[in-house]
Amino acid sequence: VPAAPAAAEAGDALPVLRRVFGYDAFRGEQQQIIDHVVSGGDALVLMPTGGGKSLCYQIPALVRAGVGVVISPLIALMQDQVDALRALGVRAGFLNSTQDFDERRLVEAEFLAGELDLLYLAPERLQSEATLSLLDRGEISLFAIDEAHCVASWGHDFRPDYLTLSALHERWPKVPRIALTATATRATHAEIASRLKLEDARHFVASFDRPNIQYRIAPKDDPKKQLLHLLRTEHAGDAGIVYCLSRASVEKTAEFLVRNGIDALPYHAGLDARTRAANQSRFLREDGLVVVATIAFGMGIDKPDVRFVAHLDLPKSVEGYYQETGRAGRDGQPSTAWLAYGLQDVVQQRKMIETSEGDEAHRRRLSSHLDAMLALCETVDCRRVRLLAYFGQQGDACGNCDTCLSPPESWDGTVAGQKLLSTVVRLKRERNQKFGAGQIIDILLGKKTAKVIQFDHDALSVFGIGTELREAEWRGVVRQLLAQGLLAVEGEYGTLVLTDASGEVLRGQRKVMLRREPERPTRAAKEAKS
Ligand code: ADP
Ligand code: ZN
Repeated sequence: VPAAPAAAEAGDALPVLRRVFGYDAFRGEQQQIIDHVVSGGDALVLMPTGGGKSLCYQIPALVRAGVGVVISPLIALMQDQVDALRALGVRAGFLNSTQDFDERRLVEAEFLAGELDLLYLAPERLQSEATLSLLDRGEISLFAIDEAHCVASWGHDFRPDYLTLSALHERWPKVPRIALTATATRATHAEIASRLKLEDARHFVASFDRPNIQYRIAPKDDPKKQLLHLLRTEHAGDAGIVYCLSRASVEKTAEFLVRNGIDALPYHAGLDARTRAANQSRFLREDGLVVVATIAFGMGIDKPDVRFVAHLDLPKSVEGYYQETGRAGRDGQPSTAWLAYGLQDVVQQRKMIETSEGDEAHRRRLSSHLDAMLALCETVDCRRVRLLAYFGQQGDACGNCDTCLSPPESWDGTVAGQKLLSTVVRLKRERNQKFGAGQIIDILLGKKTAKVIQFDHDALSVFGIGTELREAEWRGVVRQLLAQGLLAVEGEYGTLVLTDASGEVLRGQRKVMLRREPERPTRAAKEAKS
C-alpha cells in the first residue's frame, strides 16, 4: 500500500456518510471502495449508472488530507455538481473553459490555501502546464477520473484529452487514483486499465443488472403513436425521457406529445443554452415532465424517479442503449425501457457509418457496435441475459422483459430468405439497377405499383413469389437478414446488396432462423390510429 499522506482512517467514512450526506448505510461495494482509497490504494470502479459512484471519491476526499481532484468531461454539469456539494457544506470548486479569469483566480486561490475539499477539472485543463504547476503547489488527496471509459478508443465516447491522464501517475506517484465508469464491456475495461496504468489497481466490478427496469423492444410501426399509447396506458403523469436521433424529430415528437396533452419539453444541441438549461432544470424540479431529447441530454442527470426511457430510433451501440435506459428507475421502483426499432433504422445507420469520417478501423468499430445492438433487438432470448452477457456478466432469464413475458417464436426463414436474396440478385443481374427494400418487397408480393410497372418488374420470374408473407413480415425478414449479416445496404438510397454470406443461403448451405413478427400491428399502433 503506498504511503498515505495523512493519517486518515478508513473508519472515518461512515460518520461522514451520515453527517454530510445524510444516508444511513453504504450501498453495494461503496464501503470497500472508499476504505481502499482512503488508505491510499488505486481503484478502478465499474458500476452502473445510479449505483452511487460519486460518494466513492467524494468521501475519501473528505476523509483524507488535501484536495480531491476530480477529472470530468461533463463541463455543463460542474456548476450543478458543485452547487449541490456546497449545499451539503462540502467545499467544492471547479475550473473549466466557461469561467472568466477572475472566477478562475478565485478557485485557484482557494485550492492553494487548502480551502477546498473537491476540485472539479475538465480534462483539457491538464494539457496546460499552468494547471499542472498549480496542482504541484497544493496538496492533493486523490485523483478521481470520472467517465473513465472516455479513455477507451474502443468505446463509444472516446475523448483524446483523456489519453493524457496516464501522466497523472508519473507526476504524482503517491496520490491514489480512482477511475470510475458505468460503461464496461470486457474490451473497454481492459483498455481503461492499460491506458490509465491501473492494471495494479484494485478492480471493483458491480453487477450491471438493473432488475427494476423492464426492457422492451417493439417493431416500429408509427412510433409517435406507439409512444403516446405507452404513455397513456402505462405512464400517465410520469416523468420520462424520449430519445430521438435528430433535432428535427425531437421537435416534432415534442410538439406531437404536447398536442396530445402530455407535458413535454424538447432538448437538443440546436436550442440556445438558456432554453436548454431551463428545460433541464424544469425536468429535474417538476413532477411528471417528459423530455424529448437527442442523446446530448442526460449525461450525469440524476433524477431518481424517471419512470420510463423511450427510444424512437435505434441507439448506435449497446453501451449507449444501456446508459440511456439506465437513467430510468434510479430509485429502484419499477420502470420501463421501451425501444421502437424498424428496418429504416438499420438502413439509415449503415448509411451513416458508410459516410462517417475516420479510417476503416473506425468504421469497422461502429459497424460492430451496431451489429451488437441489432443482435439485442432480434434476440429470441431474455433481453436482460443478452444485455448482461454483452458486459461479460451472467444472469438467468428475468421473467420481466418482453421476450420473457411473451416469448417470440422463431421460424425457419430459409426459403423466405432465398426468395428475397434471389430477387436482389435478379434486379442486379437483369438491369444492374439499384433498389431498396420497398421495391423488393413489392415485387415479392406481386404488387403492380407505378414503379414496378415502370421498370417492368412484373415480368420478372420472382414477381409475386412471396405472397405467403405479409408486408410487415417481409420487412422483418429484410431487417433480420441485415442484422445477421446475410444482406447489406449500400449508398444513398439504401440499395440492398448481397454479402459474402448470402451465397450460403442461396445455395442452401445455411439455414436461416428468424423471429416471428406479431400477428397484427401492435395493439398500440392500432388503437392510436382509430
Ligand atoms: P452514479 O454516479 O453511479 O450514476 P450517483 O453517485 O449519482 O450514481 O448516485 C445515484 C444516487 O444514489 C444519488 O442520488 C446518490 O445521492 C444516491 N446514493 C448514493 N449512495 C447512496 C447510499 N449509500 N445511500 C443512499 N443513497 C445513495
Ligand atoms: Zn427477460
